[in-house]
This record gives sequence, structure tokens and C-alpha cells, in this order.
Amino acid sequence: MRYAMAIDTRKCVGCSDCVVACQIENKVPEGFCRDWVVEATSGTYPKLELEIRSERCNQCGNAPCVRCCPTGSSHYAEGGIVLVDPDKCIGCGACIASCPYDARYVHPEGYVDKCTFCIQRVRKGQQPACVEVCPTKCMYFGDLDDPNSEVAIKLKERKHKTLIPEAGTDPHLYFLI
Ligand code: SF4
Ligand code: SF4
Ligand code: SF4
Repeated sequence: MRYAMAIDTRKCVGCSDCVVACQIENKVPEGFCRDWVVEATSGTYPKLELEIRSERCNQCGNAPCVRCCPTGSSHYAEGGIVLVDPDKCIGCGACIASCPYDARYVHPEGYVDKCTFCIQRVRKGQQPACVEVCPTKCMYFGDLDDPNSEVAIKLKERKHKTLIPEAGTDPHLYFLI
């Protein structure tokens, strides 16, 4: 089992409902976020293109944050989801420095926090909160090893990319382009 998420950049409207849903579901403290929306422009005037992306931890298959954690707090859970065990975290910040995606923050209670693909919901057979609330239904989540999962089907049908592939982190967050 390999959990993955694909986000359709052609359908995302940048409404940030995914950010708000995450903050409520995961009790993210005010001023911090586990997911965020990026508006990236490319090209030169008058031929400019705008890409809107909802970003979060890439749940990397080759995660530097797991490799560098001195206490084993950052670890792999089922389906390759990268988690932080708050009880083992000493707040050294090594994982924050190692993440090419700037996906982690220090929780005011002293441990490091980030997106978990809402593992508490996934374990109950539910979708991550962001996927559930997205008004344009542009996010797809599931098991990449299941060829019938929505995410596997979308990745087969559509051109897609990952962010900073040159970092060699094997991201499990895909963007349909
Ligand atoms: Fe994009 Fe959906 Fe997030 Fe809105 S809720 S910003 S449409 S991914
Ligand atoms: Fe770790 Fe960053 Fe990859 Fe998430 S995106 S698994 S925090 S290296
Ligand atoms: Fe591990 Fe916590 Fe240090 Fe990050 S801050 S590397 S999770 S002990």
C-alpha cells in the first residue's frame, strides 16, 4: 500500500477551503498551517500562465526528515505516510532544515508538526479533510498500488509532475497539469 494524493491544477481555484478544513480537523494553531495555496506564474507578458497549487508534505518515499531525525520521532507509518511522534520529538529542527518543501513547523507545544494525510480519518476509511471539502473536487487520494483507486486512475490518464524532483525524495504528492 502506498498512499498518494493528486491535485488537478486546472481545477483548483485557490479558494483555500482545503487550508481551513485542515486547520479545523487537525487543530492547527493560529498562525501556522499544514497545507497552503501557491499561485505560480510562468512565461512572459502577454503570454503569462497561472498555476494554482494546494501544497503540503509530499509524504516522500525517500524522506530526508526521517533519515536525519536523531530520535526516531519522524517515521513511516502504514502506506508510507510520514508521521512525527510528539513524545519522541526534542524539537531540534533537523527535519525542518532537511525538508526541501518547507512542509514542517514547530508547534507551540514544542514538537514538530506537518500534514499526515489526515491519517486519523484514513484509518476510519474516510478521505483527508482537504479532499472532502474541496468545492471543485480537484483532489484525489488513495492507494497507488490499487490500479482501481481514483488517484491511480488519474495519474494514468493525465500528465502530471512532482515538485523539486531533483531532490530525489520520491514525493507522493502529484500535480495534474
Ligand atoms: Fe484548490 Fe480545492 Fe484547495 Fe480550493 S479547496 S484551494 S479548489 S485544492
Ligand atoms: Fe519529510 Fe518534507 Fe518529504 Fe514531508 S515533504 S516527507 S516533511 S521531507
Ligand atoms: Fe526529529 Fe523532532 Fe528533531 Fe524533527 S525536531 S528531527 S521530528 S526530534
